[in-house]
Formats: sequence, C-alpha cells, structure tokens
Amino acid sequence: MPSRLRKPADPSRRSIHVFDLDDTLIRTEAQVRVLDETGAEVRALTPAEFTTYTLAPGEGFDFRDFGNVGILARGVVVKYTRTIIDTIVARGTRSDFGILTARGDKRLHAPFLIRLFQGLFGIRLRNALIFNLSDERFIRHKESRELPPNLPEGFSGKTYAKLSVPERKALVIGQDLAARGYNDISLYDDSRENLEAFKVIHKAFPEVAYQPHFIDPAWKVRLAEFRASGKPRKALTSGRRSALILLENHSRYAENPEAGLRALEERGEVRLGAGVSLVLEEGKYALTQDGRRGTGDGG
Ligand SMILES: [Mg+2]
Repeated sequence: MPSRLRKPADPSRRSIHVFDLDDTLIRTEAQVRVLDETGAEVRALTPAEFTTYTLAPGEGFDFRDFGNVGILARGVVVKYTRTIIDTIVARGTRSDFGILTARGDKRLHAPFLIRLFQGLFGIRLRNALIFNLSDERFIRHKESRELPPNLPEGFSGKTYAKLSVPERKALVIGQDLAARGYNDISLYDDSRENLEAFKVIHKAFPEVAYQPHFIDPAWKVRLAEFRASGKPRKALTSGRRSALILLENHSRYAENPEAGLRALEERGEVRLGAGVSLVLEEGKYALTQDGRRGTGDGG
C-alpha cells in the first residue's frame, strides 16, 4: 500500500507548459537580418540579440532564415530543456504543451514541431497550441480585434502589429491561451524580457496563474548576474544538478564535473574564478562571493 495517496486532479486547474523555440528548445544557425532603407544588410542578429535589438529609423527585419525549416531541422535540441520536458512527462503529467515563437510561417514550422515532440517525448503537440507570432495570418487575426481594454498604459493606442516580441508573447498568454481554457501557464524562455512581459499585464488577467522559467543551460547569465549583484550568497535551488552544470562550464573540472563534485564534498568549496565560489554547507549548495569587488552602492 502506498503510504501517501496521490492528490486528485483539481478539475478547475488546466495547465500548459509553453516553450520558446530559438535557444530554448532548439539552437540553430538561423539569424535575423537587419536591412536599411535600400534593402542592404546592415547586420545579422542571433535569436538572443534579436530580442533586445531596437531598429534605427529606416531599418527593418528580414526573417528569411526563419522561414527556412531546413535550418531549423539542422539545429540541435537544447539538452537542458529536453531534460525538463522528460522530467515533466515522467511525472505522468496531465498538462498540455505549446510553442510560443517569434518566428513566422506556422505552416512550415508546425508539422516539424509536431513530429519532433512525438518522436522525442511521445507527446501529441496540438496544432492550435503552436503560436508563430510573426505569422502573417496570425498577425491579421490579431489585428482584426482590439486589444483588451484593461492593459497598462504602454499598450494604449497600439495594435498587435506594433507590439514588441515580449509584449506579443504576454498578450498571447493572457488572451489566446486563457481563451483555450488554460489558467495555469508555465513559460520557458531564454529571454528575461520575454519572461517578465506577462508580469506587466498580469493584473488584466487575474485568473491566470503564471510561472516563468529562465532557460540558461550553462548558467552563463545567472552567474554574470550574481557577480554584478554584489550579493554575498545565492542558494542553488536545484542543488546538485546546478552544481554539476557550474562545475562543467565554469571550473577547472570541465572535463570531469563528477570529480569536481567529489572535491566539493571533501573540501566544501570549489573556486569558479573572479571571486565566486561554489560551496556545500550542511548539505546545501550555494554560490558565494568575497567582498573584494565593490558593489558601487557605497554601502
Ligand atoms: Mg529564444
């Protein structure tokens, strides 16, 4: 007899895990080109750079690579995210899965993504839960209706086509996913801006429970943020799993992170450089940094 009974599913709760595509689910060589008014290419942006790039007057984006499903198919599935999905599936989840990408041309992408989810995870990804935010048909559909009335000021007078990628993602979560009956929504994205955007409009959609998940497979961004914060300590909530990633990517144990873990268990500390150490104290993993580097706040 099991000592603990499984809680019955709450019928009022419908949850979905929604994944960004580029650099969250798949890493590709695809780039967004920036063209000047004559149509000449000024620069090429990675998907990560694209999220934060502001067009200069006269410039426009060219998504040629992103309509090319061949480039997508040659990409690699991000192992870190694959593990997250495997873990969710292994729990025997009742949740659905969806895609929320800045890419256009859903007709090209959807069949590929549906097969990918079936093949890798045995999950049936529903076509209606794949959102290509720059898809022309989708833009026309969103332009044909007004934005919800109770959005914060920054949205007033705008239409869908005038919104940034993070704002579009937030709106699809609050409007389209909620309209499909979901009230417990997890977004997985490698862009902090994309993850933060829904928080700005959350008040307009109070029925939605929202959980952002930052995808940072090598702990590159979070380690840099910790260094810049000047804080003395940061607990690692995923403990050993995060410690292994940090050892593999930011210590002299790159070739053999398990050996790094043993060193950590023996000595309680492994230095990661630039004043930051990985520590293990009373079974708890954390990052610490010494006070040599000023925080600049004069405290
Ligand atoms: Mg991305």
